[in-house]
Amino acid sequence: MTELSDLPIRDDLRGLQPYGAPQEHVRVQLNVNENTHPIPEAVATDIVKALAEAVLGVNRYPDREFTELRESLAGYLGHGLTAENVWAANGSNEVLQQVLQAFGGPGRSVLGFPPTYSMHSIIANGTGTRWVTAERDAGYELSLQTVVEAIRREQPDIVFLCSPNNPTGTPLALETIVAAYDATPGILLVDEAYAEFQEGDTALRLLEGRPRLLVSRTMSKAFAFAGARLGYLAADPAVTDALRLVRLPYHLSALTQAAAVAALAHAPEMLAMVEDIKQQRDRMIVALPALGYTPLPSAANFVLFGGVENPHAVFEELLENDIIIRDVGIPHHLRVTAGSDAETTIFLDALARLSAR
Ligand SMILES: *Cc1c(COP(=O)(O)O)cnc(C)c1O
Repeated sequence: MTELSDLPIRDDLRGLQPYGAPQEHVRVQLNVNENTHPIPEAVATDIVKALAEAVLGVNRYPDREFTELRESLAGYLGHGLTAENVWAANGSNEVLQQVLQAFGGPGRSVLGFPPTYSMHSIIANGTGTRWVTAERDAGYELSLQTVVEAIRREQPDIVFLCSPNNPTGTPLALETIVAAYDATPGILLVDEAYAEFQEGDTALRLLEGRPRLLVSRTMSKAFAFAGARLGYLAADPAVTDALRLVRLPYHLSALTQAAAVAALAHAPEMLAMVEDIKQQRDRMIVALPALGYTPLPSAANFVLFGGVENPHAVFEELLENDIIIRDVGIPHHLRVTAGSDAETTIFLDALARLSAR
């Protein structure tokens, strides 16, 4: 049988592991930070109507500039942004890949601050961009000084900041983002996949007058649209011109565009569960210490908790109870998504009954 290593694959891909969050179809899925609430039926009906219309035109290529979608996204974001400031792709992962294709690549580097979103380094590898890292402060915080020193030391072409950070939930102060921007002559990308869950300010506020600042967002998390695959970015219009050089033509299908536009027209309904999800997050942060665990503060829709003697054993025992959470590889820690009230109860009850710790 042919092994991967038998193939003439790129040397820099040899020995790498693909993204591999387990996809188990169990009763309580709290492992990849989705919005666990299904979208409202009235919205679903509208999306289906839009899809029915769009499907009649799929003999033609879709709008390569996805203009209506960019207008919808700009309207949703606010902050004075227009369609010219907005770019989108099949998930924000594809947006990030296009950013690295345009601004990174062989001979260039991107700086990140682990533990952070695992796809940042995987996309760096895939695009031949050198992934360089710097340490966070105690409690996974990231101070202005730490960020600026790392940028001065590593001189990266691109800086990735994740706010709130996955998997730790840590938010980032806007002044840190401003200082990072001023410290680098390169691109600064702020991954705001969880922005709708945080109380603090968004980096969208900083875009004016900062053409090297990129803010990425996604419809996969708060917006309950992970399966549709729609991520986007706001930046100076010149940045979208750069991304046009590397994207494949017609990369957003007519069906994706129609579905996303229809969903964005119902943004308040799509986001209706966000407050409830934040309550479940805060409920877990209050409940976990009583069970002997140490949750970290979180501005996102998940909680990272420490004090887990054997994360693998706890993960497996929860799985036997039809519950999946995430072992993110941080010693003595596990991450759990904030789901519905019922899911949170099932998770906390199971955790309280566990023999493994
Ligand atoms: C989930 C997540 C994304 C979303 O990726 P999509 O491709 O849009 O589904 C992006 N960034 C971070 C930090 C995430 O956790």
